[in-house]
Amino acid sequence: MKLHEYQSKDVLARFGVPVPGGDVADNPTDAQIIADRFGGKVVVKAQVLMGGRGKAGGVKLFDDAADAAAFTGELIGKKLVSIQNPQGMVVEKVLVGELIDIAEEYYLSVLLDRAAAKLLVMISAKGGMDIEEVAENEPDAIVRLHVDPAWGLADFELRSAIREAGIPKVAQSQMVSMIKGLVRAYLDTDADLIEINPCALTPEGKLIAADAKVSIDENAMFRHPEYKSTADDGAEDPIEAEAARRGIAYVRLGGDIGVIGNGAGLVMCSMDEINAAGGKAANFLDVGGGAQAERVQQCVELILMDPNVKGLLINIFGGITRCDEVARGILAAFDVLEIRIPVVARIEGTAAEEGRALLEGSKLHPAETMQEAAKTIVELAYA
Ligand code: GDP
Ligand code: MN
Repeated sequence: MKLHEYQSKDVLARFGVPVPGGDVADNPTDAQIIADRFGGKVVVKAQVLMGGRGKAGGVKLFDDAADAAAFTGELIGKKLVSIQNPQGMVVEKVLVGELIDIAEEYYLSVLLDRAAAKLLVMISAKGGMDIEEVAENEPDAIVRLHVDPAWGLADFELRSAIREAGIPKVAQSQMVSMIKGLVRAYLDTDADLIEINPCALTPEGKLIAADAKVSIDENAMFRHPEYKSTADDGAEDPIEAEAARRGIAYVRLGGDIGVIGNGAGLVMCSMDEINAAGGKAANFLDVGGGAQAERVQQCVELILMDPNVKGLLINIFGGITRCDEVARGILAAFDVLEIRIPVVARIEGTAAEEGRALLEGSKLHPAETMQEAAKTIVELAYA
């Protein structure tokens, strides 16, 4: 899960990585107060979870607090579009940061090299611009260094990699400490990516992280509830954002048959069967293991938020999930929501008998197999 720049910088600061001062604002008045703290010499940066904000017009330098405040007013509520993110993202917050004089821009990152089962540190003297472009056109300009998570990094290895990357002498020792801080931060926060681009060298010879990206491994989120608030920010689609708030794995796909299944594999299989039957899935939705009735109802609600949906296929294989719980959720959803579309359910596994018995007499169409369920829902939806 990607953190915003201001959150990423807070994380890095805790591990001794030098970052510019600053604070986050969601209105011009607050932006002005923050900018005044730095005598108006600030950079205002859109806090959206996408790359290329600079080129998209989401980063601007100021020497006057009132101008910084006015720009904040322009940015909030505006949709930024970049090459990396063509569908765009709406700005809700900006970072008003201390303006750094930049003499040179470098690139630093720490990520996971799964194949090598090690961390990978990447260093380049060609920061600031698109690192993907550098990687493609001048692959030798990026120096790669593996870090064994058990052994850690030796200073001499780091020094030699930094020298090889062509980082000037004045910045070398500072970069050694910075990378060590990044690696500590990476391990401690269960990150799956940390990237500093640009890592700025000021004319006075001070190395500082002018931009920062930290992404936390989704599977470790339970250990880091403090970052939960950004979970819904990354989604542009309002239904996906709502799903993220509810902690439900949902992806909108553009078709018109809603799908609810338990387990990602079963959901994908259901989507394939819908396709085979001549339909098109509206979404991916994994209700998860051990789903309770209320959660099932929430899932049905999500599906119905999509106005394109003409039919709903529910495909449950009860293992940990009890089919009678699922059935109660479906009945509750029928009770509370006005469901005008056909619903077909294939329910199999733990407590399937009880589940099917509960659904008897409801508006729902039962199906014996996944194939039959897909065929039926496509017929009913497109009738
Ligand atoms: P990104 O485009 O989303 O990666 O946003 P960045 O934070 O990297 O900002 C884009 C560019 O703006 C950087 O490459 C810098 O050249 C410039 N920039 C950002 N912050 C500062 C700053 O404090 N001072 C100066 N002089 N330039 C900055
Ligand atoms: Mn950047």
